[in-house]
Amino acid sequence: MQMKNALLHVEHERRYLHNKLQELKGNIRVYCRIRPPSPGVHPQQLAEIEYPADDNDVDESLCQAISISKELPSSEYLQGQTQARNKTSYTFKFDKVFGPSHQNSQVFDELSQLVQSALDGFNVCVFAYGQTGSGKTWTMSHPGDGMIPLTIHKIFDDISDLKQNGWEYSVEGQFLEIYNETIIDLLANGSGDTKYDIKHDDINGKTTISNLRTIRLNSAQEALMLFNKSALNRSTASTNSNERSSRSHSIFVLNIKGFNAKIGTSCEGCLNLVDLAGSERLNNSQAKGDRLKETQYINKSLSCLGDVIYSLGQPKNNHVPYRNSKLTYLLKHSLGGNSKTLMFVNISPAATNFNESLNSFRFATKVGNTKRGSGIRK
Ligand code: ADP
Ligand code: MG
Repeated sequence: MQMKNALLHVEHERRYLHNKLQELKGNIRVYCRIRPPSPGVHPQQLAEIEYPADDNDVDESLCQAISISKELPSSEYLQGQTQARNKTSYTFKFDKVFGPSHQNSQVFDELSQLVQSALDGFNVCVFAYGQTGSGKTWTMSHPGDGMIPLTIHKIFDDISDLKQNGWEYSVEGQFLEIYNETIIDLLANGSGDTKYDIKHDDINGKTTISNLRTIRLNSAQEALMLFNKSALNRSTASTNSNERSSRSHSIFVLNIKGFNAKIGTSCEGCLNLVDLAGSERLNNSQAKGDRLKETQYINKSLSCLGDVIYSLGQPKNNHVPYRNSKLTYLLKHSLGGNSKTLMFVNISPAATNFNESLNSFRFATKVGNTKRGSGIRK
């Protein structure tokens, strides 16, 4: 009995302290990542970006700053629209800034703490936001060390460690895509007319999708095989493959259930790893027909995601517009309450991408200004 009480105490303390630390770091975190220049690109074709020289280079608010500058055309300079010299600079602050030399494994060090939260029964969302070509898929899905493969390894390693404390876990996976506000099951060869309905159990904070395939995952190897095979299916499914994959949101879901018979406790967490559709704005005059429709859906769902996260951070705001897009509606229970959100804003260093980078920084700043600690909003 005494042993049981001691274990109960240790387990409670471990989970409590871990969660307190995560709340102190903020339940919503935004990390910026600049990818390296593509091979063969001339330095003059790169935007001027300044980022912290090392990981510990943080300011008093424990943030890191990134600046992006652009030479103005001489006509604008002459019209006096500039600040110092013929250059205009913008500075943004994020919880962390990863430069071009950071590796995926270093980026994962930050995410790994939230994987631990999911094992402790919290819901977690990880998003990669940015224009097409900015490094979202490299970050999330790189087959060797992307966030998804490293998350899978960590989950199964932790599960085996936590056995010593009496925990038994089961893990289930789902993999889906949202394209033009329609759900596509990446684990099934659907006939195309399968209907997927999102259902919420608001009392228990659980979400299910009817007809969506759910696969029990018994080991890291099994989970990785499933992920890699389906990710490959995704990119070769349509003739215009790169187009489709960059114009849809893909969501890899891990449902993690734990039970500890020694202390009679159970927990259930859901980890959502999301590679968002490319955020680039199409020149309106170019967008016609299907392309225009896709762009409208993407713009709407991305701005809705920003609005939802933003309104979750407003203590007095009671209305969170989850219903305005399929993505936010689906993730309702993984975005609100005491769940954790991490957003990577991926940036391309090319000078031609300057305006898109600026848009991404602004979006990420809106999301990052939402500092949600415990109890501010349920
Ligand atoms: P997105 O998914 O945002 O469209 P990708 O992940 O496909 O972008 O990346 C675009 C290109 O840049 C790819 O050729 C990819 O291999 C390369 N790339 C992206 N991030 C990195 C990185 N951190 N290191 C090396 N190459 C990268
Ligand atoms: Mg991609």
